[in-house]
Amino acid sequence: MEAAVKPHVLIVEDEPKIASALADYVRAAGYRASVAGRGDVVPALVAAQRVDAILLDLMLPGMDGLDVCRAVRATSQVPILMLTARVEEVDRLLGLELGADDYICKPFSLREVVSRLRAVLRRSAPSGAAPALPFSLDADRHALRVGSRDVALTPVEFRLLACLCERPGRILSRQRLLDAAYVDHRVVSDRTVDSHIRNLRRKFEALGLAPIASIYGVGFRLDLE
Ligand code: CA
Repeated sequence: MEAAVKPHVLIVEDEPKIASALADYVRAAGYRASVAGRGDVVPALVAAQRVDAILLDLMLPGMDGLDVCRAVRATSQVPILMLTARVEEVDRLLGLELGADDYICKPFSLREVVSRLRAVLRRSAPSGAAPALPFSLDADRHALRVGSRDVALTPVEFRLLACLCERPGRILSRQRLLDAAYVDHRVVSDRTVDSHIRNLRRKFEALGLAPIASIYGVGFRLDLE
């Protein structure tokens, strides 16, 4: 791989040890890495050069990760992987709809970071058209179809799946899925989503697919590969 075509990963992390370990690992995985130790420089860095993905710490001097994410999203769709210290923070992050692509909780394994990075880079790879779903939804019959086989869905399952299909590759919070699934705004626990997702997964499994990923403590994502 030539240096010029290696994807460029910008690591925004103020702890030098973590930053350099991330940079080493990202480089070993075949990417170009650069490091910023403060948040306020990031929008200018993204504007000034090609950046293919950002690993973004939440607590940063200069500008915190939330504001960095917002500022970058105002001008760029570059994939952003947030590094957060606690899983409880992630719910809040998602509630803010900042447009981050994925979240990793500290302490993380470097291997996990690189595998998530690969996934966001793959999802953002220019393809011209949105990737095709490996199944189709029949809205009249509330059915999930793969090839010539299909499975009936309940109305709630159908709405949940339709919502996931609108934003493949992005994490959707339980609350957002609930809003989509219950149009009458019945009071239901957000854990209700989990049992419907379990049923949906069983139906997908019967068709040989497993496209719904759980993001621990946060929500769900439709993965296309
Ligand atoms: Ca930090």
